[in-house]
Amino acid sequence: MGMTVRISSALLANILAHAAVDPAREACGLLFGAADEIVAISPAANLAADTAIAFEIDPAALFAAIRAERTGGPRLIGHYHSHPNGDASPSVRDAAAANLPGRLWLITAAGRAACFREEPGGPVHHAFRPVSLVVSGVAACIPGPRPPERPFSPPQGYST
Ligand SMILES: [Zn+2]
Repeated sequence: MGMTVRISSALLANILAHAAVDPAREACGLLFGAADEIVAISPAANLAADTAIAFEIDPAALFAAIRAERTGGPRLIGHYHSHPNGDASPSVRDAAAANLPGRLWLITAAGRAACFREEPGGPVHHAFRPVSLVVSGVAACIPGPRPPERPFSPPQGYST
């Protein structure tokens, strides 16, 4: 298993936008792709009893994705969820729910994202190992704010 996972900035923006719809509640969804690349997401309903501190992906969405994968659909590689408390690292509750080694957990908080892979005995709560998110080719464990756009300027001392 690699230590990096790629995702496009557009896809990550979609996940952060989903989390921002109701920042007081955990948003969640499914991740599709390959072991080291997230290529699609599917937002899902959070059916947890208390969505302020927990998430439970709608089992109907989960099973539909598993069925689709078995018939040639996109590969389910993990899921994402948000943390209203501002800490994008797995909670003890998350560690207790980890039961599928290799699965990716992308966690967002306060407009940032971090990624972890389930690994029994791993360094985070003995359940996860951090992996670096590589956003559109730029290595960034935790993406910061976008840099300001620079106006295009032609090279100096160059005539056509
Ligand atoms: Zn969590």
